Amino acid sequence: MSIDTARVLAISGGIGGAKLALGLQRVLPPGDLAVLVNTGDDFRHLGLLVCPDLDTVTYTLAGVANTETGWGRRGETWNFIEELARLGGETWFRLGDRDLVVHVERTRRLAAGESLTAVTEDLRRRFRVPSTLLPMSDDAVSTTLDTEAGTLQFQDYFVRRRCEPLVRAVHYAGADVAAPSPAVLALLASAPLECVVVCPSNPYLSIGPILGVPGLRRALEACRAPIVVVSPVIGGRAVKGPTVKLMRELGVEVSPRSIARHYAGLVDGLVLDTVDAALAPTVGVPALVVPTLMQTLEDREQLARAALSFARTLAPSQRSRRARA
Ligand code: GDP
Repeated sequence: MSIDTARVLAISGGIGGAKLALGLQRVLPPGDLAVLVNTGDDFRHLGLLVCPDLDTVTYTLAGVANTETGWGRRGETWNFIEELARLGGETWFRLGDRDLVVHVERTRRLAAGESLTAVTEDLRRRFRVPSTLLPMSDDAVSTTLDTEAGTLQFQDYFVRRRCEPLVRAVHYAGADVAAPSPAVLALLASAPLECVVVCPSNPYLSIGPILGVPGLRRALEACRAPIVVVSPVIGGRAVKGPTVKLMRELGVEVSPRSIARHYAGLVDGLVLDTVDAALAPTVGVPALVVPTLMQTLEDREQLARAALSFARTLAPSQRSRRARA
């Protein structure tokens, strides 16, 4: 599969993003979708490089994700972590046996000199995922949070402390010097690309690190294909995770209007939920109002179709004009 032939680029964090990425994969012909994935929450654990968002997207698009936990694999066994607990090891980050194999193999290949992009592509193929999966960069970017409990690495905040500490600021260490994924740059400049869909992911913790890589942000700004953002906030609430808690703590109004503002200069159209219909005229960009809560596979497909049709109605030049204005 050649990356330059993908027609749709989805941008995704973990669980929320992967839901819509799956919908897009299911309604598009095989090979038409590429997914740009956050690596800001990657971290070293037990000597291994763990890439939670890449793994969630890979497992989801491969149909092997655990839909109950939202992370890890279906039908997982836990021999490793149970034995580790017995020996007094670190068990706050749960690793299933099959999941563990991915981290071991990825870490081995990276140590042997392969890039994260190359390893991800090979894993995708072995998991029989028909879409291209692209880490945002081969360089390390690490999301850190200034909190009332001090500066915390992402997983320390997210998993160990269950997002409890109050957050004052979010940083993306290394993003300013990270080289953007060359494959993403090529795709964003390629003629067949018809649209970019920013999936409903956490704007600060999942999409923020991607936009924090200057070369990626510039390439998205310059991209001629329309960019559609699907709001992760429905009726003032997040479906899951700390998006709304973070918005409050960062002093941001909890509304789709703030989502549009967050992506100013990048967004050509916003998809917002029917419960937020009254806010559509206030978001400052063309808006599509549809049900956006994805509970079933059909919900994912319907939202994917709606986002794609909406994107087709948007002129590519609109964003460039707005960005310059
Ligand atoms: P994480 O790994 O769970 O942080 O995953 P993401 O960053 O990709 O997604 C988290 C965001 O997705 C949260 O703001 C949720 O509100 C949003 N989200 C999850 N499921 C849905 C859904 O079905 N519809 C919409 N609109 N947003 C969702």
